[in-house]
Amino acid sequence: MKKGKAVILDKPNGEFTIDEAELPEPKEGEILVKQEMCGVCGTDVHMYHGHLPGTKFPIVLGHEPVGIIAKLGKGVKVDHTGESVKEGDRIYVVPGIRCGKCYFCTVLLEPTLCVNSTAYGFRPYLDQPPHFQGGYAEYIYMNHPASTFLKMHVQPEIAVLLEPLTVGIHQMDMAKLCVGDTAVIQGCGAIGLFTLVAAKEAGAHKTIVVGAPQSRLDLASEFGADLTINIEEVTDPKERIEMVKSETTLGYGADAVFECTGFPKAVPEGIDMLRRGGSYLVAGHFTDVGEVPLNPYLHFTNKQINLMGVWGDDTGHFVRGRPIIESGKYPFEKMVSHKLPLERIKDAMDAISTNYRLDDKEVRKIVIVTG
Ligand SMILES: [Zn+2]
Ligand SMILES: [Zn+2]
Repeated sequence: MKKGKAVILDKPNGEFTIDEAELPEPKEGEILVKQEMCGVCGTDVHMYHGHLPGTKFPIVLGHEPVGIIAKLGKGVKVDHTGESVKEGDRIYVVPGIRCGKCYFCTVLLEPTLCVNSTAYGFRPYLDQPPHFQGGYAEYIYMNHPASTFLKMHVQPEIAVLLEPLTVGIHQMDMAKLCVGDTAVIQGCGAIGLFTLVAAKEAGAHKTIVVGAPQSRLDLASEFGADLTINIEEVTDPKERIEMVKSETTLGYGADAVFECTGFPKAVPEGIDMLRRGGSYLVAGHFTDVGEVPLNPYLHFTNKQINLMGVWGDDTGHFVRGRPIIESGKYPFEKMVSHKLPLERIKDAMDAISTNYRLDDKEVRKIVIVTG
């Protein structure tokens, strides 16, 4: 029986060890995917440190997987958009799996809030098969009946970026940007840069990215940001707020501000950048990193803002993200800075937990190469 490798994390801040398990034979409706690449995301790092409540260990992390169909179970003929698939095709495994039955799935039509939600890269590695339920492995076994996937037509270094883009798309659905709007993106990590892309696609006329370091802001400019503000140079938040306002119609403030930093302090500053009646979206806080004082009168009622939290993504965001990723319209090829083998996952975690440097190079996006 053929075997495949998977990297198991035993406990929070524990050891990553490579295990080998027998490859399952996909049954009707299932797929065995030979992984090519899997992105390393801030969420993986939070899970590694035990900061995501509900995570069960041991686990195979990794929820940004792209790979080749190794074996199709009976009856699988098309991807989520109806495009025909065969063994050997490249696909993106949509990590999130929804029940389609709960109140949030069926009544409120908010699948990202599904109470029975599970996801590849978030499922425990069991003593018994099925193994291969996460992206840091040679294979992914798509055995859940509600799994979805998309055929991809670009090289894996580009395709692997689809998941972080979906978080930007989800934000645009909620922000309801209008053509001609001014959008501010706080943060220039992967989520910030892809939120910038999504804002431009959604019709923002002027985009302003606030963050650091300069090299990432330069990348934001290459992705089409009209203005960047370096928080290491302009250290006073008041000055940053005035800089943003001076770029907006009559100095009223931005129509929408997207928080993609994961730092609580960004929230009051971002709301102060907003015009009255504008929209503030909190997307950068996927784990609990603390609190921040807010003034309900000044920040909420008097400005009559729309305050929204954004939780993850769903298949629809992947479907709409695919043509953007595949368009060649943005310099996505500049995103992946490091390609590491399975053995070096700990190095990736450590770099993202500390100074975003690895092998004498700045980290943009690390991918684990498994193919
Ligand atoms: Zn992610
Ligand atoms: Zn549900």
